[in-house]
Amino acid sequence: MNVLKRLMYEKCPKCNKKLETSKSHIINAVVIKSCPENHFQREYHPALETYIESDKVG
Ligand SMILES: [Zn+2]
Repeated sequence: MNVLKRLMYEKCPKCNKKLETSKSHIINAVVIKSCPENHFQREYHPALETYIESDKVG
């Protein structure tokens, strides 16, 4: 799965719900998308061009 496809496919791998976006780190422009059931979280760091994925939130 390439990066563009991953960007398009923003669903929780566990429950398949659409990830919700929140921008809680405005200064760093970090975009956080997370499952509404807290199964999965993905952070995108534009400065690093990197994703950080987590199985659970908190
Ligand atoms: Zn989920």
